[in-house]
Amino acid sequence: MRKNVGIQVFLAVAVLLFAGYRFFGSAGLAPAKLRIATGGDSGVYYAYGNAFAEILEKRMNIPVAAIQSGGSVDNIRLLRNGRAEIAFAQNDIMTYAYNGTDLFSTEGAFKDFSAVAGLYPEICQIVARREIGGISDLRGKRVSVGDEGSGTELNAIQILGAYGISYTDISVDHLSFGASVAAFRDGKIDAFFCTAGVPTPAISELGADARILSVGDAHAQSLISQYPFYSRQVIPSDAYPAIGEEVATVAVKATLIASDKLGEAVVSEIIKILFDSRDEIGKVLPRNDELTRGAAVEGIPIPLHPGAEKYFFEN
Ligand code: GLU
Repeated sequence: MRKNVGIQVFLAVAVLLFAGYRFFGSAGLAPAKLRIATGGDSGVYYAYGNAFAEILEKRMNIPVAAIQSGGSVDNIRLLRNGRAEIAFAQNDIMTYAYNGTDLFSTEGAFKDFSAVAGLYPEICQIVARREIGGISDLRGKRVSVGDEGSGTELNAIQILGAYGISYTDISVDHLSFGASVAAFRDGKIDAFFCTAGVPTPAISELGADARILSVGDAHAQSLISQYPFYSRQVIPSDAYPAIGEEVATVAVKATLIASDKLGEAVVSEIIKILFDSRDEIGKVLPRNDELTRGAAVEGIPIPLHPGAEKYFFEN
């Protein structure tokens, strides 16, 4: 009898240890569900996030939700408050959050997340009425600088700043990309900023009364030297057939980030699925062929998640 109890206790302990290893061992915590923080519904984060959530759900056999949000800044806060496990963020915004600088200087550094993979260039697009000649002409105009909680707004402040324009020189609106397009069509705003993958669904809806303003060489150079996250990018003329112009501007980079609570094995599985489904995601972001293993680890000044390190090392 006594011997039986001993065996039972031994077996129970062994089962607990095994289960503990599966969930908390080197494989890390296996989540019961995943939430991906994306952006507004006319942006690329949202389209990409929904497509990816659907693929992850099928492949991982757990519920995966794509959460709508204001964009990068909001997404970091959703991770910080434990309301999402994975998020999209601009590489500039995630670095400010990690170091607790710039727009994160009051809330302080948030270090409990890391980078999963750099995804695609997010181009700073300044859409304006056709008769507006350049960024300098935005003085005195009504301009949407992006949603509350977006990374777009910081880019707007920095780009306007390079032209010596501040919020006191323009009339400021905080609108999502979709709301900006609606306000632009109704004649309520003269221009709007949009930092997103190209073509951005919201901008594709516009016609020939819109143009995209270029960031001149000298201004781009001064921006890049002050904020090294920017790079020079050209929007090809076929990106928006109705607008039909090639435009030189600047860009940052969309990055997938994850809470450090997610285990190594889970994150490495997520990246594997990301690369396996490149063509499928390419249906919502035509330039997704820029997703390569080399480009995915470039321009990332914060630590890579251990699961990402493992994946990129092995591949
Ligand atoms: N990069 C944008 C932001 O954080 C969002 C882009 C998108 O929704 O596709 O402001």
